[in-house]
Amino acid sequence: RQKDAKASAHDPAVTSDGHTIEIVANIGNASDARSAMEYGAEGVGLLRSEFLYLDQAVEPTEDQQAQVYTEIADALGSEKPLIVRTLDVGGDKPLPYLPMPAEENPFLGERGIRIGINRPSILRRQVRAILRAQGHAKIKIMFPMIATLPELIAAKKVVLEEAADLGVTGVEIGIMVEVPSTAALSSHFAQEADFFSIGTNDLTQYTLAMDRGHPKLGWQVDALDPAVLQLIYMTVQGAQEHGKWVGVCGGAASDPLAVPVLIGLGVTELSCSVPAIPLVKQQIRKLSLSDCQALAKQVLEQPDAESVRALLSNQ
Ligand code: PEP
Ligand code: MG
Repeated sequence: RQKDAKASAHDPAVTSDGHTIEIVANIGNASDARSAMEYGAEGVGLLRSEFLYLDQAVEPTEDQQAQVYTEIADALGSEKPLIVRTLDVGGDKPLPYLPMPAEENPFLGERGIRIGINRPSILRRQVRAILRAQGHAKIKIMFPMIATLPELIAAKKVVLEEAADLGVTGVEIGIMVEVPSTAALSSHFAQEADFFSIGTNDLTQYTLAMDRGHPKLGWQVDALDPAVLQLIYMTVQGAQEHGKWVGVCGGAASDPLAVPVLIGLGVTELSCSVPAIPLVKQQIRKLSLSDCQALAKQVLEQPDAESVRALLSNQ
């Protein structure tokens, strides 16, 4: 099966009833970008940009940052999307050149876009560097951990101002949906964002109020919990009202049990771990959208994650 999947890795993922699902990659650097292309990725759905900075003692200059984004974009080429997520540090991810005061609840503290808003010069330099790679790939900028509309509006303003200053056009602005508040107000966010990408890892931990890495609770942090699936459904409904697309870049996008459910809920882009790409494409070719929709409806009625998994395993 692995061999079949590899042979067709560069063909699109079209369901048996003719719907195309975009299959892109989660990456952390230029070398990942090159392997993503070899594995048949149609672009990058999540560049975790913090991975480029975690071992730096001082902040790289705008030029140095631009050089890295351009190298990654060149690995894709001008026709493919490259979604760069702005720095997602804080919480469990410290950044050496950005000392942060200790917090009692770091996962509920200054992390993700909250740092970018509180320290706008860091966000501004990164955004300029990303924008300068436009044309080398189809650049899209995505903000992590958006929880309120004013956060999105503040972060978006930075991109619009720097794009105007650089004379860069055509860069779409999207958000991660990984906080339940954002899913709940999806239709409002959809008026301000060009696209959504659901981070099921954080969305699950914040929905269930369970640390995704907790030694005792971690196993229960299941993206197939019906509460999480309801939030994904709400996200898609709100996006569709405004003609915006929804992808998934959390681990669920690479989970064969979750893939038919996500597609049935109306997700049209899956950003997968690089090695999973050929297999996810292969799986989708055997699915029909209408069957996935019927399945998603059934799944949304389940009382807990175990029942969802039991239902999906019997397919
Ligand atoms: C997520 O939360 O699902 C996600 C993709 O972001 P990260 O895993 O980098 O927090
Ligand atoms: Mg996350």
